[in-house]
Amino acid sequence: MTSNIVVLGCGLGGLKVSSLVSKQLGRSGTVTIVEPRAKIPLPSSLPWLAFGWREPNRIQKDLKSLAKRKNVRMVAEKVEKINVTGRTIDTQSHEIVYDKLVISLGADLAFDEIPGLDTYSHTMYSLEGALKLRDAIKNFQGGTVVVGVCRTPYKCPAAPYELSLLMEETMRRARKRVDIQLFTPEPHPVPAAGSVIAKQVERLVTSRGIKYLPKTKLVKVERDRVAFDDGSALKYDLFVAIPPHRPPRVVVEAGLTGDSGWVPVNPQNLATRFDDVYAIGDVTSIETPHGHAPFLPKAGVFAQGQAGVVANNIAVSLTGKGEMRQWDGMGSCHLQVSKSESAFLRGSFLSNPPRLEFHPPSRKWYLDKVRRERDWLS
Ligand SMILES: Cc1cc2nc3c(=O)[nH]c(=O)nc-3n(C[C@H](O)[C@H](O)[C@H](O)COP(=O)(O)OP(=O)(O)OC[C@H]3O[C@@H](n4cnc5c(N)ncnc54)[C@H](O)[C@@H]3O)c2cc1C
Repeated sequence: MTSNIVVLGCGLGGLKVSSLVSKQLGRSGTVTIVEPRAKIPLPSSLPWLAFGWREPNRIQKDLKSLAKRKNVRMVAEKVEKINVTGRTIDTQSHEIVYDKLVISLGADLAFDEIPGLDTYSHTMYSLEGALKLRDAIKNFQGGTVVVGVCRTPYKCPAAPYELSLLMEETMRRARKRVDIQLFTPEPHPVPAAGSVIAKQVERLVTSRGIKYLPKTKLVKVERDRVAFDDGSALKYDLFVAIPPHRPPRVVVEAGLTGDSGWVPVNPQNLATRFDDVYAIGDVTSIETPHGHAPFLPKAGVFAQGQAGVVANNIAVSLTGKGEMRQWDGMGSCHLQVSKSESAFLRGSFLSNPPRLEFHPPSRKWYLDKVRRERDWLS
């Protein structure tokens, strides 16, 4: 008898778990993927889109080739309901029964949480947003650029720093006079990496004249200013936001979320508290054993590492072949500082204290980022 593996969401984590588990299972399992998008963009390339260094077709992957596999079925609809007691998933036109369920629905962007955010801000956190931002950058004649982290947690903790640095370089090369300010509610950059690495990241931005405003919480966006909870405000000519994130409605309604608001999982095997239900990537919250940050940051590298473990363990449990694995909390992250240079951070985020190495900017790590984009697309 074949087993039904159902994967919800086919972004970075869902794509990897689906392709690995369908390959490993062969005829002993059917993989049903529920994902409304036909193509998915590589998020780490969205800044390149915003600065005009990539076109949309160059950074997207078509899910067609995965759908052609004999044991894969695509349902191109949104998940409407997850029923963990009845072991079913509802979409608009299907009821899908699962034996093993993998939830990789990511995080929703919540522009509606802050008044004025949707109307006045730009973002590079979606393909559409990055394209609009590209036009805004091209047409910008100079003035004040404000980059703001609206709330925590958010995906890719390096992204606001990278965006500010690339903005500074782009404007300088175009001989446009800008004043760039970067605010965040966090006490310092990339909190999960600790205060030593944070200092290095802060120095990268401040040495380029970018004003850094930590512990600054946004409450409102108006046509030409952002207002904070301490009553202060900043005037802007261009405001680029890292919008608030929230878990998809369906996981909350299914009772999968915990005190953090996200889906708690066992960090070793990504199991939720429900039998045969796993969650990976941005939708999860994983507590860290150290005091730098309470939870692991949201990053594609974690989603993909977790996907490898879950795919392997599902295949082993269903075929009896191979060995179960544990996730090790290893991660890495590029922080691009200019068109052709990147810094790089990597290590073990779940050890206590985290064992991380920070490599200062060089062309080597930029080329490494380019290689990873090429590998993912192929
Ligand atoms: C600008 C930017 C730069 C980044 N750079 C990096 C980087 O350099 N390195 C790194 O590690 N990470 C980076 N990230 C973070 C990374 O993209 C995410 O952490 C990663 O995509 C998480 O993978 P995921 O599978 O959990 O979620 P996602 O990749 O977001 O996938 C979720 C999927 O679920 C689908 N979905 C949502 N709701 C439903 C529903 N109701 N029904 C069906 N499907 C649904 C969505 O369409 C989506 O395809 C970056 C992110 C951004 C925005």
